[in-house]
Amino acid sequence: MDHEDTEKGKALPSGGESVQDPQTSSDKSVADALIPQNSRAMICSSTIIWKEMSTVSCWEPSCPPIVSREEWGARLPKKRQDLTTPVPLVIIHHTYSPPACHSLEDCKKALVEIQNFHMNDRGWDDIAYNFLVGDEYLFMGRGWQTVGAHAKGFNNNSIGICFIGDYREEIPSPRMLILGSALIKFGIDNHFISANYKLIGHRQVRNTECPGEAFYNVIKTAPSWGPMDNSPSPSNVTGNQGGS
Ligand SMILES: [Zn+2]
Repeated sequence: MDHEDTEKGKALPSGGESVQDPQTSSDKSVADALIPQNSRAMICSSTIIWKEMSTVSCWEPSCPPIVSREEWGARLPKKRQDLTTPVPLVIIHHTYSPPACHSLEDCKKALVEIQNFHMNDRGWDDIAYNFLVGDEYLFMGRGWQTVGAHAKGFNNNSIGICFIGDYREEIPSPRMLILGSALIKFGIDNHFISANYKLIGHRQVRNTECPGEAFYNVIKTAPSWGPMDNSPSPSNVTGNQGGS
């Protein structure tokens, strides 16, 4: 499942997370700190950019909806670490598994599955990503102000956005691309993401196929995309891995 390191066979060193959450915080502070800081109302104030990633231009995105942790049934994280913002990087992932979800209920199940995998199997503190994108909704992962565990070595200066599904041969739906774009626009407007941020695929900082060949080819066409120095060569490791 999900993420990083999981996949197929090749056990990637679970990176990221090892670096994260060094601090020990009390349960109370964790609970307080993890309440989603970006409410639906805040997200509704955003507008869309990044339409270049989409092949559709007719959607009127006045309010990209985001499903809170409470709404999707998230467990409390074990720990968390503050993310220094604005971050210069936005790192795009796909889940590879679970597959794309097409209803809110299915997407919520996918989120729970991913979080359980990350916390139980990977031993991470929480679901690895800052945000996830489903067919109709955005989902709150660690949010804007908590260090993720999605890209080892880069978690402290990036926001990780995971598109639910396997995008090796297909690309996310236009709606998903617009939701992702809206999320980034919101992050820029609210200074969580640098205005001159660089958009990259996970494979640019990790030996992984993530976010899928087809999706990565789309990402590379975005004006905000940029190369990384010393990028690892793409591997056969599929999706979600890598992370942290
Ligand atoms: Zn990834």
